[in-house]
Amino acid sequence: MPGRWSWLLEEVGLRKLIFSPLVYRYIMGELRGASDLVKCALCPNMCRHACPVSIVDGRETTSPSGKARLGMLVERGYVDLDRDVAEAIYACLSCEACRRWCYFSFSVDELLRPLRGRSIEEGKAPRGVQALLSNLSEHGYPYGEPRSQARPSGGGVVYFPGCVTTEHLPELAESALRLLELLGFNAQPLEGVCCGAPAYYAGDERLFKRLAARLAEALESAEPRLVVASCPSCVHALRNLYPSLGLRVPPRVLHVAELLAEQQQFPGKGTSLRITYHDPCKLVYALGKPNLLRELLVRLGVSVVDPRRRGDETFCCGYGGTLPFSHRELADSIARERLGELKEAAETVVTACPACKLAFTRNGGRVLDVAELAVSLLGGERGG
Ligand code: SF4
Ligand code: SF4
Repeated sequence: MPGRWSWLLEEVGLRKLIFSPLVYRYIMGELRGASDLVKCALCPNMCRHACPVSIVDGRETTSPSGKARLGMLVERGYVDLDRDVAEAIYACLSCEACRRWCYFSFSVDELLRPLRGRSIEEGKAPRGVQALLSNLSEHGYPYGEPRSQARPSGGGVVYFPGCVTTEHLPELAESALRLLELLGFNAQPLEGVCCGAPAYYAGDERLFKRLAARLAEALESAEPRLVVASCPSCVHALRNLYPSLGLRVPPRVLHVAELLAEQQQFPGKGTSLRITYHDPCKLVYALGKPNLLRELLVRLGVSVVDPRRRGDETFCCGYGGTLPFSHRELADSIARERLGELKEAAETVVTACPACKLAFTRNGGRVLDVAELAVSLLGGERGG
């Protein structure tokens, strides 16, 4: 039976452990050979200040390196992967804020995904995650039977609202279609087919591949020259994750905000309304557009008030990854924490992700998607 600290001796070696400061050696990269999970487990939580789960939940267990330590102990057989442990390793927004501050560019979400996969196989994943995965497996949609199964007919421009929009925010989809019309695009919606991102973040790789193949096939038969999506997670999946699976994707996949930013000029009327903004994590970190939303609002003639945390130091809305399925209360607490900060800047918040809009609206926020704001400023009737 190994002793309590034998894993540390095994990884670092007794001499090193005794003769030089651990953190120094860690930073100088002398722990070569140790797996990424072990390196993260040994870290003094250097990204903790930026992790929304850690800040709001406050438990050591759900801090970034706390989760990595738990993961490492499970991997090495010192701790069983039971429901309590699974609950902790799912306490993550897949927001990637940790990567922003990590010396090694680690994402704790990425490091723990294989263990989440194992917890699914062993029937230990949180019940909300199991329900999500069974809906995705049976209906190809996170919430059961899809409300709409709109399919575009060949060619042209496809609008992909994403499941959160279709299920919870149909008015956002209407605004996005109206905006596309105002910009001169005759777009047709593709609804009721999940991009697979929730399965990916849950750690069910096989299901993600199945869902991705299904959407890629639906898009292939529509042959669009352009796909426009409201959800940055869907854009990330289509643009960055699908090619790594060898799937063919349409030549151009853009988020609504990216398409708006491509316009030379806006015939809009501007607004004197004081507005703040929430940068969605996937737009900032996964799509690499930390300043896009702010720049767009300025170009649209909005009187912008900057929130405290923004751009590449943004703070997740609470509904990232699978957290609203596994830890609904914590997800709402994080949403309220962020909303409080945004309200210090202005009462009206603009964002560019349906999950963020849903999180804030459910928790008392006055929130517009960038498409809704743009429609009202460019002369359409929706929004505001
Ligand atoms: S992700 Fe990086 S900074 Fe954060 S705890 Fe792990 S090793 Fe440390
Ligand atoms: S991905 Fe986000 S929630 Fe998860 S550990 Fe990193 S910072 Fe925390």
